[in-house]
Amino acid sequence: MNIFIVYYHPEPQSFNGALLARAKGVLEENGHSLRISDLHDKAFNPVSGRHNFTTVDNANFYKQQFEELNATEKNGFSQEIAGEIDNIFWCDMMIWQFPLWWFGLPAPLKGWVDRVFAMGRVYGNGRYYDNGVFRDKRAMLSLTTGGPQEAYMEDGFNGDIYAILRPIHRGILEFAGFTVLQPHIVYGPAHLTEEERTLLLDRYGRRLGNIESEKPMAVGRYG
Ligand SMILES: Cc1cc2nc3c(=O)[nH]c(=O)nc-3n(C[C@H](O)[C@H](O)[C@H](O)COP(=O)(O)OP(=O)(O)OC[C@H]3O[C@@H](n4cnc5c(N)ncnc54)[C@H](O)[C@@H]3O)c2cc1C
Repeated sequence: MNIFIVYYHPEPQSFNGALLARAKGVLEENGHSLRISDLHDKAFNPVSGRHNFTTVDNANFYKQQFEELNATEKNGFSQEIAGEIDNIFWCDMMIWQFPLWWFGLPAPLKGWVDRVFAMGRVYGNGRYYDNGVFRDKRAMLSLTTGGPQEAYMEDGFNGDIYAILRPIHRGILEFAGFTVLQPHIVYGPAHLTEEERTLLLDRYGRRLGNIESEKPMAVGRYG
């Protein structure tokens, strides 16, 4: 498979960095082709604006989706955005590796979505959900938390992790047509022993070793 990993963590020696390294090792060992966008390393600017485009639809009033439609028609995305879009079209599967920040994506990764998931190119004109542009592709979130697993159960003090991830699973990935796999979650790596963390890296490696045959989960309208 062609696998595209979008990675954000500000510290390469973090546990997220270790998960990325394990993914790279296992996936390449299993013969997959890999592209990685390391948003911290490339200092990806998460702020959306006219710099997304080389074209201008309306110079007097900036409306992002109109500029996106125009750029789609005229091949007018900046090189940075066009490259990221190309990576998504190239892949069979996309993985996002990140720490959960404020119950959501860290701003650089959220900004990547804001800028890269462009109307016209990635969605729109009736192409969403089951009819989405990326309906032949799969996606998986691989994330870490600060809190322990019990805090993210339905009756835990943070509430159900699936409810927290739903805006990403449904509102971004399924919206664009992706089939979503179960998220891979490492709860509270900072509070574990070195040995426990090593076992969790191995568990991730084992999962990725069989990722091609894994059954997806359906998030759906009510999921
Ligand atoms: C702005 C912000 C918002 C946040 N919001 C939330 C939130 O809403 N909910 C929540 O639960 N948490 C939240 N957090 C906490 C955050 O999610 C966790 O700190 C993060 O997920 C932990 O992952 P990490 O990669 O940063 O771990 P790290 O702290 O980098 O790593 C944990 C340990 O693993 C070690 N390690 C690294 N590599 C290896 C290796 N190869 N083998 C073994 N050990 C290794 C590291 O040395 C370290 O000791 C937030 C944090 C911030 C900064």
